[in-house]
Amino acid sequence: MIDILIRNAKLDGQMVDLEINNEKIVAITQKSTTQAKQVIDAKGGLVIPGFVDAHTHLDKALLNPASPYVDGTGPEKGKLTLARKKDFTVRDIYQRAEIMLKRAINSGTIAIRTNVDVDGVVGLKGIEALLQLKKDYAHLIQVQVTAFAQEGVFVDTQTQALLAQALQLGADLIGGHTIANGEGAKHIDVILQLAKTFQVEAEFHLDESGKREHYLLPYLTEQMVKLNLQSRVTGIHLCTLSALTEEELQNALKMIKDVQLKVTVAPTAISTRALAPVKKLVQQGTLVALGSDNLRDFFNPLGSANVRDVASLLGYVQRFYTAEEVKATFDMITTKGAESLGLKDYEIRQGGTANVVVLPTADIAEIMAYRDAPLAIIRRGQRIA
Ligand SMILES: [Zn+2]
Repeated sequence: MIDILIRNAKLDGQMVDLEINNEKIVAITQKSTTQAKQVIDAKGGLVIPGFVDAHTHLDKALLNPASPYVDGTGPEKGKLTLARKKDFTVRDIYQRAEIMLKRAINSGTIAIRTNVDVDGVVGLKGIEALLQLKKDYAHLIQVQVTAFAQEGVFVDTQTQALLAQALQLGADLIGGHTIANGEGAKHIDVILQLAKTFQVEAEFHLDESGKREHYLLPYLTEQMVKLNLQSRVTGIHLCTLSALTEEELQNALKMIKDVQLKVTVAPTAISTRALAPVKKLVQQGTLVALGSDNLRDFFNPLGSANVRDVASLLGYVQRFYTAEEVKATFDMITTKGAESLGLKDYEIRQGGTANVVVLPTADIAEIMAYRDAPLAIIRRGQRIA
């Protein structure tokens, strides 16, 4: 008797039965006759390992309901956040992050990357909280923690050492913010050097203001070549791409392609600035992932932690409306997201880990339009929802 049998699931265009036992998918067959403790009828629904949310700020989650939302510019919201950061405790960060993490899990997300602020104000409290949360929920979701220099690296005398400590403690990546504190190129140098030293990937909130004077993509890609970091860096946002002339944009796309810069787009940024031209990036083969970004904080009071919501937003804003385009947005929050985050074992295969989300339909357009809850979520062979 096996643990779970999923009947009538759609996988790679075929109707199959999945046998799950001892955390593994032990068989994928046309018609299983094996007895199981639990049988799930997928009713023709698609099975996937899960969704991938490539960019969030779990350490700042739920700051908004705690303090009323005040409208303002990005820098103004940054100031509000900084003021609140002074009072953060490890416990408070953990509790707020946990609420949104559970929402992500229940929406079918299998992996989530979060930036976590590290600076002289908050110190390593966020890192401590998120590394603990990552450990506590490892059986349900893979959390990747980016030690993030939100306020800049030259803003105080401690941040650089704290970022190194965060990586020693086990942060998965190093994160920079190219417009932080007006530090520009020097900021990029420090972050890339930390990536080199600790042999981790780097990611940058890159050209986030959308203004030409903050355009640092050319410098970043140049340094990636110098330091031999091709394909090891992710650019988040890249809003300035939308402010370039057609000729400049073609040059920028070539720079991105040449160094295999991975791109993560957070579609909720549309509330304050133009998004990067995602279709053009996808067309040239750039690895594009999507992220929820802010989750009910001063920047976005409406974040749901269901990454299908932001994929839908991208679909509306940039008209991903044909069947192929809708499929492309689905890929960004599944296979492409998994590739961007370097997930291992992200596939449903015989002998693989039994991580399975049973969706209520196999029609990609219905999955993305209705965003209905999964019929079942199985993590390491255990049904959780
Ligand atoms: Zn962000």
